[in-house]
Amino acid sequence: MKIMTCKQLGGPCDLALRGDTADDVIKAQDRHLKEAVRSGDSTHQQAHEAMKGRWKNPIKGMQWYRDTKKAFAGLSEA
Ligand SMILES: [Zn+2]
Repeated sequence: MKIMTCKQLGGPCDLALRGDTADDVIKAQDRHLKEAVRSGDSTHQQAHEAMKGRWKNPIKGMQWYRDTKKAFAGLSEA
């Protein structure tokens, strides 16, 4: 189990997201962004748009995904 923050994943806050794999924390961040935006938090709007844009722009998205996986791999187990 490792922890990445919303900020490390491109978001604005320090919420800790836990997961056993990079995919888990990315999914958790995706959910967190959606929920924050739905509850009217405009500070997460930009990160949410960026996250949605990654799926529409696979080449740019892939770079982010690789960087995130690398950052995750470099973390120590929590
Ligand atoms: Zn956040």
